Amino acid sequence: MTPLLDLRTMVFVYVGIRIGLAAVLIYLWRVQHNYPPARDWAVAALISGLGLFCFGLRDIAPVWVSEVLSSALVLPGWMIFDYGIVRAAGKQPPLKLGLAICTLAVGSAAWNSLVSPNHAAQVMTQNLVFAFFDLYAAHACWKLADAGRVVTFRWVAALLTFLAIACLWRMASAVFGLAPPAVFLVAASMFAFPMIVMLLALQTSQSLQRKINDQARHDMLTGAFNRRAFDEFVNREWSRSVRRSDPFAVLTVDIDHFKEFNDQHGHQTGDATLVEVSNAAQAALRADDIWCRYGGEEFIALLPNTTVEQALTVAERLRCGVEETVIATKKGLLKVSVSIGVAERTAGQAHWSELLAASDAALYQAKAAGRNRVAAA
Ligand code: GH3
Ligand code: MG
Ligand code: MG
Repeated sequence: MTPLLDLRTMVFVYVGIRIGLAAVLIYLWRVQHNYPPARDWAVAALISGLGLFCFGLRDIAPVWVSEVLSSALVLPGWMIFDYGIVRAAGKQPPLKLGLAICTLAVGSAAWNSLVSPNHAAQVMTQNLVFAFFDLYAAHACWKLADAGRVVTFRWVAALLTFLAIACLWRMASAVFGLAPPAVFLVAASMFAFPMIVMLLALQTSQSLQRKINDQARHDMLTGAFNRRAFDEFVNREWSRSVRRSDPFAVLTVDIDHFKEFNDQHGHQTGDATLVEVSNAAQAALRADDIWCRYGGEEFIALLPNTTVEQALTVAERLRCGVEETVIATKKGLLKVSVSIGVAERTAGQAHWSELLAASDAALYQAKAAGRNRVAAA
């Protein structure tokens, strides 16, 4: 049976597919320039596309181009691509080991094509390296812990395993002469790889979207929820508390004499202090509590399902946590304190703003009573 396409046409079709995919990956890199895997994939697609093109020139160009140069481009390209997947799966790939493997394989390609021509050995080495990198990346994808992204990575892992099987089969065929069916090889090279790229593009845009959503809800300096997230949470928790007749408490937290602190130590130290205070406060809160930077040096903690007595305990723990926090600066160790107003939702309140006003009034009492203390409405 004559094959559908001769090898050279197949390779050039594949180079064409690679160029299309490289365009997708470069676009991905542009929109996600802070995402290292996107850069890896774009670079890898270009390098290995070029390498494949050299391979397609077999019998036209000199052997060092079609065999050695093509190996020197395709092998590292393959590695960079798979390492990008490993990085996307949250692991740091062993770069030195990968480069050592590629160097050995390129050396072997030079030996087997220039010094002592041995086509079978050449096919075996290359495919063994491809299979190694694919299986390593597939393993990283299977091991991925982040549940939100598991499905995409499972598919990538399955496709990489399929690619690795194709490589190992090609390798075996060089030894035992049992060639894999053409349809299998076409599926591996023309279907599996583009599918992987599409899945990675999907995963990348999802992770970008998640990052944007996340940034839109957090304060840049302290990492606490911002005002926008606060509005969302307070509405939700208020409604839930009213519906179920559950208790709901809030803490209004304000740093003491912070204007003076800023004037004395500078705004930068003030900013670092805000971060420390926020971290200490978060450490004192429970998993269900919601910590927000309400504005300036004022924070609010929303405590779902919490009575005022319980909230007072949390507030006191938070106050102590801040009091014990030491802020290391160039001028030495500094300390600040916070005053906290505590209030619980009452039946007479029609809107959460009234609950906030009550805890604000309590904060005012704490300030008036001498600061560094907790007061309840
Ligand atoms: P009090 O004990 O009564 O709260 O006194 P205070 O000086 O802390 O008074 P107030 O709460 O009104 O202080 C607000 C000050 O917080 C004003 C400003 O200098 C400081 N501040 C607000 N936002 C920031 C910020 O993002 N960074 C820094 N470094 N300082 C801020
Ligand atoms: Mg203050
Ligand atoms: Mg204030």
